[in-house]
Amino acid sequence: MSTENAATFDCPECDVSAPSTSVPYDSLGYVVCPVCGYAATPERSSSADRSPSAGD
Ligand SMILES: [Zn+2]
Repeated sequence: MSTENAATFDCPECDVSAPSTSVPYDSLGYVVCPVCGYAATPERSSSADRSPSAGD
């Protein structure tokens, strides 16, 4: 059961946790760590790259 707060930013670089509402965002809209400046860019998201099914 994942009871994770989606409104909390956890930095993988400096392991800091801060409410997403109190952290800055870059021009792309990604959360930027207020401590080390790490940008939480979605590197490993779900396989959104779906090839067009060549069928029919
Ligand atoms: Zn950080």
